[in-house]
Amino acid sequence: MSDKPKNILDRPLEYLKGVSATRAKLLREELSLHTYDDLLRHYPFRYVDKTQFHKIAALTEDDDHVQLKGVLRQVNVMGEGRKKRLVARLRDETGMIELVWFRGVHFIQKQLTVGMSYVVYGRINVFGSRLNLPHPEVEAFNGNAQEAATLAPIYSTTDKLSNKNLNAKGLRRLTKTLLDQLAPADLPENLPQWMIEKLRFPSRYDAMQWIHFPPTQGKLHQARRRLKYEELFFVQLRLLRSNIKRKQALAGFHFEKVGAYFNTFYHEKLPFELTGAQKRVLKEIRADVNTGAQMNRLLQGDVGSGKTVVGFMTMLMALDNGYQAIMMAPTEILAQQHYAGISEMAEGQDIEVAFLSGSVKGRKRKDLLERLEAGQINILIGTHALIEPWVVFKNLGLVLIDEQHRFGVAQRAALWKKSHPYAPHVLVMTATPIPRTLAMTLYGDLDVSVIDELPPGRKPIQTLHKYESGRLRVFGFMRNEIDKGHQVYVVYPLIEESQQLDLHNLEQGHESLQREFPQPKYQISVVHGKMKATDKDFEMQRFVRGETQIMVATTVIEVGVNVPNASVMVIENTERFGLSQLHQLRGRVGRGADQSYCILMSSYKLSKDGRERIKTMVDTTDGFRIAEADLKLRGPGSMEGTRQSGMISLQLADLTKDQAILKVARDYARAMLEQDPDLQLPEHAPVRAYIMRYGKRFQSWARIS
Ligand code: ADP
Ligand code: MG
Repeated sequence: MSDKPKNILDRPLEYLKGVSATRAKLLREELSLHTYDDLLRHYPFRYVDKTQFHKIAALTEDDDHVQLKGVLRQVNVMGEGRKKRLVARLRDETGMIELVWFRGVHFIQKQLTVGMSYVVYGRINVFGSRLNLPHPEVEAFNGNAQEAATLAPIYSTTDKLSNKNLNAKGLRRLTKTLLDQLAPADLPENLPQWMIEKLRFPSRYDAMQWIHFPPTQGKLHQARRRLKYEELFFVQLRLLRSNIKRKQALAGFHFEKVGAYFNTFYHEKLPFELTGAQKRVLKEIRADVNTGAQMNRLLQGDVGSGKTVVGFMTMLMALDNGYQAIMMAPTEILAQQHYAGISEMAEGQDIEVAFLSGSVKGRKRKDLLERLEAGQINILIGTHALIEPWVVFKNLGLVLIDEQHRFGVAQRAALWKKSHPYAPHVLVMTATPIPRTLAMTLYGDLDVSVIDELPPGRKPIQTLHKYESGRLRVFGFMRNEIDKGHQVYVVYPLIEESQQLDLHNLEQGHESLQREFPQPKYQISVVHGKMKATDKDFEMQRFVRGETQIMVATTVIEVGVNVPNASVMVIENTERFGLSQLHQLRGRVGRGADQSYCILMSSYKLSKDGRERIKTMVDTTDGFRIAEADLKLRGPGSMEGTRQSGMISLQLADLTKDQAILKVARDYARAMLEQDPDLQLPEHAPVRAYIMRYGKRFQSWARIS
């Protein structure tokens, strides 16, 4: 082992009493806990009130974690081989419940004695029509010798650790040992004194003690409030700071004027009045490109809210100032669709629009690249092919990116090299609505515009939930719509690990559709992930041209197209889709003038979350409400788009629930930076010292640009 580090928090966990080399290794591997500091920040995820017990007879499947007290009645090893398990029966004065272990059977069996009283803590599981407790924590009940604190912390752990006696209880013991060794000086303040007083926070030392071993509910609350604030404050500080830096450092092209291209389109070509939201966003963009700094803007807007026309008009601003513009889409089909749409909008003006993807080859490609470099092409639309090194521009001024979450940071970086002397302005368009609180935290260094208004006259899509027993009526409904001249999507989930299974489902579904909708009257297109790109495209185009009435597909991307004549979206195995995916899928219909429908098929067996997702879809078509619900159900770490951007290391703060704290943290962070951008004032020394020590922790927020 190396020398003992000076700062006690930097000591490897081996130094802690009760941590052998084996345990230290497991703590590293299983929970990424290396040092005292890491253990200190392994906060309890919940607390049990040691004085409160559930009654067995009153348990229901809606109870989540429960604490029981009772006498063990039986302890038996049952089954053979992989089915081998330890089953114990716990009885209290109201009833009996089974405790089950599938691993560590003999080890646990040795610790249990029939006839003794135990306190049992675990998660309720539904097994057939009965409830049981798989892998509960079990502790002999010894009356008054029970731990003194009424609120006992529960830490997350793993099977491997539990087998080495580091279950929640073992971790509790280690944390206690650690906290007993720490002095207030080991946990210096990281906020200015005035802020701590103003916000009535406990000291950092107290907060750490209390979050692990709360003397009272009130002190637990205070500790959590302070520690959540810290997390959000330092993240905001970093994001706001990098935003300021970016604006200072990244000079950009100055689009001085709005000229003929823009005005001609706006006054003579645009077939509709822009919505208020579209106008506001255009003003925000106009202001950005007129400052001399590089624009880095995220444009959010629900499916169909009219982002493309805003993007196109931004391109015209670039053209008016003599620059080229490009638009990148995540798939060939989407890129082609944009190409068609934008070519149409550009018609009648002297604008050269071109398309580039991997499928453009040979002479055609060579010719295109030459004209691009010579500046004869004004607007280039395409896929990832646009960022290949041999694609050279004369003067690229603007990059539009459709559906940001499919582009990685490295790919964006490649784009920066394509223009001189500055990086091009960037407008990222996304239909994945990100709740504002999350956007603020995620993209604090990006400017965000929102189109929160749909063009007038849209009929909201009607959404229905149906079970297998309703299938014949769903077929009847589809037939009705098709006979009216409309088209229908039928979508199956694609889960990468089980492509085989998904394909099987789709093929079966396809067969029954073929029986229900026989040729030649009806034609069906099929698109799935195992097909060659050219075949997919061919099938897709048949549907786009209206030659087929039904599109059966597995993936979301392939149906990311605009077919205004499609009026029904049937989603199979709805419970296997995430909310944001469902919302995106539903957005494929309702693009024309007619009433559209979304039918969510599911099995009867639905998890609580699955049921909640379906209910949300039936209740609302508002993308932002759906995103909020998604955030609540899944937590921010799993939001579409957040994974790729490298977030998120918030441990305590919850972006859905802690918006009030977030706002205070952001306001204080902003005020601090306005007064003292480099944190040089003596009163800011604690903040600076903390950033020097922990800066890396809040740098995992990769810049989107
Ligand atoms: P998004 O890209 O946000 O999903 P689109 O830009 O594709 O939306 O717009 C969807 C449809 O709405 C397009 O057919 C477009 O021409 C139309 N549209 C856009 N803005 C308006 C508006 N202000 N009024 C009427 N129709 C509009
Ligand atoms: Mg679009």
